[in-house]
Amino acid sequence: MPENVIYGWRYISYIKSKKEIFFTDEEVENIINTIKEAQLKPSIMTEIQHVNNLKQAHSASSTTCPQCGAQLVRRVAKKGRYKGKEFLGCSNYPRCKYIHNINKKQTKEFSANT
Ligand SMILES: [Zn+2]
Repeated sequence: MPENVIYGWRYISYIKSKKEIFFTDEEVENIINTIKEAQLKPSIMTEIQHVNNLKQAHSASSTTCPQCGAQLVRRVAKKGRYKGKEFLGCSNYPRCKYIHNINKKQTKEFSANT
């Protein structure tokens, strides 16, 4: 998961680590109101759906790069320790070096979902 995907209360220290000012107080007020209007009713079902959405967005079945949003493409390693093994690489390579190894467990999960 990317560093901004946080479980539990750790988001407080993540937010506090940010020091740059991007919005005025008035803009912050507007953003909070917009979020409140669009917010789903807090419930266990909403939470389960949110976690499932995250898992899918960051799993091997996802076709977009979690780092830059470009398409992921299936490639075969040409050299190194994983030579001959398939992996998902970012189509933005070499600008983005994101890779996702395809292992048996994830392939199984993927076929169970479809
Ligand atoms: Zn990328």
